[in-house]
Amino acid sequence: MDREMILRVNVTPLNDKEIIDSINQRIQAGLKSTIIAINPEKIVRANKNEALLELLNSATYQIPDGIGVIIASKLRRGAIQSRVTGIDLMEQLLELAHAERYRIYLFGARDTVVAKAAEEISKKYTNLEIAGFMHGYEQDTDKIVSDINHCRPDLLFVALGSPRQEFWIKENLDKLNAKVVQGVGGSFDVLSG
Ligand code: UDP
Repeated sequence: MDREMILRVNVTPLNDKEIIDSINQRIQAGLKSTIIAINPEKIVRANKNEALLELLNSATYQIPDGIGVIIASKLRRGAIQSRVTGIDLMEQLLELAHAERYRIYLFGARDTVVAKAAEEISKKYTNLEIAGFMHGYEQDTDKIVSDINHCRPDLLFVALGSPRQEFWIKENLDKLNAKVVQGVGGSFDVLSG
């Protein structure tokens, strides 16, 4: 995967369409992908926390979420041209799921919020399948992982806020049967309307 490094943090120098095409190719090839959003706040935090730095850099895609990331790239004549926000990429993955009939799982946020987000998504993207969902205050990780695996999602969205969701994804990735795992912060709150 192509990467540009900004203050020790990798960023994927692709636009949203290129990222979606690349993810779909990896799905077809049976490869697992992780997606995390990079903004200046996370870059600063990662430079003070080696574990966070390592885990951000180990994701498959580090999307350029903050405008400061684009500016930093432009100043050093880098290749990052456009902003790709976490929620935009999630919506484009939902479009992809709608087109390809992929199964999705939502993990995170308050129980009423995640349930409403699932309802709104299924109304808007009628062709995808909601494989399952779980609120983000469940403490039993084994229960969460086994529910996700039982539901066999293609795409898993994790909305626990940052950096909690990044650590959760890293810790559980090997056990998870999903093909794509994206950390999406407060996106379920937005999608639930
Ligand atoms: N959240 C959760 N479990 C927790 C803490 C937070 O599910 O233990 C959820 C919270 O309900 C909200 C999201 O994580 O839906 C955090 O959103 P926020 O906008 O704070 O995240 P950011 O996008 O800033 O990382």
